Amino acid sequence: LSERLSGVFDKLTKQGALSEDDVKTALREVRVALLEADVSLPVARDFVKAVGDKATGQAVTKSVTPGQQVVKIVHDELVHVLAGDEGEIGTLKVDNAPAPILMVGLQGGGKTTTTAKLAKRLKEKQGKRVLMASLDVYRPAAMDQLKVLGEQIGVDTLPIVPGQKPADIARRAKQQATMGGYDVYMLDTAGRLSIDDALMAEVEEVKAITTPRETLLVVDGLTGQDAVHTAENFDGRIGISGVVLTRMDGDGRGGAALSMRAVTGKPIKFVGLGEKMDALEEFHPERIAGRILGMGDIVALVEKAQETIEAEQAQRMIKRFQKGQFNMNDLKMQLEQMQKMGGMESIMGMMPGMGKMAKQVQDAGFDDSIIKRQIALVNSMTKKERANPALLQASRKKRIAAGAGLEVAELNKLLKMHRQMADMMKKMGKMGKGGMLKQAVK
Ligand code: GDP
Ligand code: MG
Repeated sequence: LSERLSGVFDKLTKQGALSEDDVKTALREVRVALLEADVSLPVARDFVKAVGDKATGQAVTKSVTPGQQVVKIVHDELVHVLAGDEGEIGTLKVDNAPAPILMVGLQGGGKTTTTAKLAKRLKEKQGKRVLMASLDVYRPAAMDQLKVLGEQIGVDTLPIVPGQKPADIARRAKQQATMGGYDVYMLDTAGRLSIDDALMAEVEEVKAITTPRETLLVVDGLTGQDAVHTAENFDGRIGISGVVLTRMDGDGRGGAALSMRAVTGKPIKFVGLGEKMDALEEFHPERIAGRILGMGDIVALVEKAQETIEAEQAQRMIKRFQKGQFNMNDLKMQLEQMQKMGGMESIMGMMPGMGKMAKQVQDAGFDDSIIKRQIALVNSMTKKERANPALLQASRKKRIAAGAGLEVAELNKLLKMHRQMADMMKKMGKMGKGGMLKQAVK
């Protein structure tokens, strides 16, 4: 797959902004990559469309191909979608002791193993007292399995009472957890080979009895599209709070993660990475994104290229400032940087003395809308005018202000700011023969 993609990339070597064709060609391959990684068709289709809208027209970083650039954009978007809201990944709500955690999913997905892994984690990382209860009344071995794991990790299990129904066990677990002073009690439910009504009804009943703080769906990451179907059903009927994706130590490509996230909107909280009790990690969106695309190298390459270019650009600018050259194009670049970074910590911020001035300007109410208007004013100037602002006499000023839909007074303010900044730059350049500035970039 990677080979086919690099083949496509080789064809796209034009530099500059990404054209619609570049994006289309690259995205066609990305779509195949997503499908091969087990992302479901509608999710892949929507995702590719969203990325296409974002990518077209974006500047291509020097020294990478447009195709590579598209992959980077796709990767970033994947991470964005997978990551969801902050604070959701790798955490469980376990306040208000005893906090019930309900584990649901199909048979063999890894519920029992994950129940014990999470109990161990809660115990060791958060110092919680945990009680585990098996509600799997269909396979006596399942109850023993949890008991054995509990002994292994030093976590209590609810004593097994033969003949009880899942709802009875749930009630007993709740009571035992309350009386025994546990912080958390975990309910390991029985699975079925496929989704059926009896299973759902049973889980629903247990949920009603215990009102869990977390209802975690445990799914086998190797099952791909089936996992999505499972997630959709459980979330629709029971309502889940998060997903644990197991068997990610296998060679599954992880596409299920994206589909489940897209279809249910619920976070993937943890991943299982083996049979051992320590083989559980919090979910890392970047890793899965890299795995889905199978192109971690390209992403790193593009990131590196972008960093280098930004550093080069800064170096070049500072050299020019030292010579007292600071024209309207430079000003515009500064303004755009401020906009991008949401503040004045642009190249200015890298220069001693300038950071302070930047802060003053910002404190004086220099906000985003002003920056936008100022950029519009610069855009309204001709090339010559930008290179040499001294040309700006009354008639030109009128034309420029009108072009930006603004008052001449605002343009005058901008010009004044430019003069002040240019002066400052010049002074800084002379000071210490520019040594100071050079140091600032390092
Ligand atoms: P349950 O039926 O949902 O309770 O599934 P189990 O917890 O009994 O797990 C079924 C099998 O999958 C067991 O042999 C587990 O050791 C294994 N298993 C669970 N999670 C993982 C995982 O993350 N990686 C691997 N390789 N095996 C796992
Ligand atoms: Mg089980």
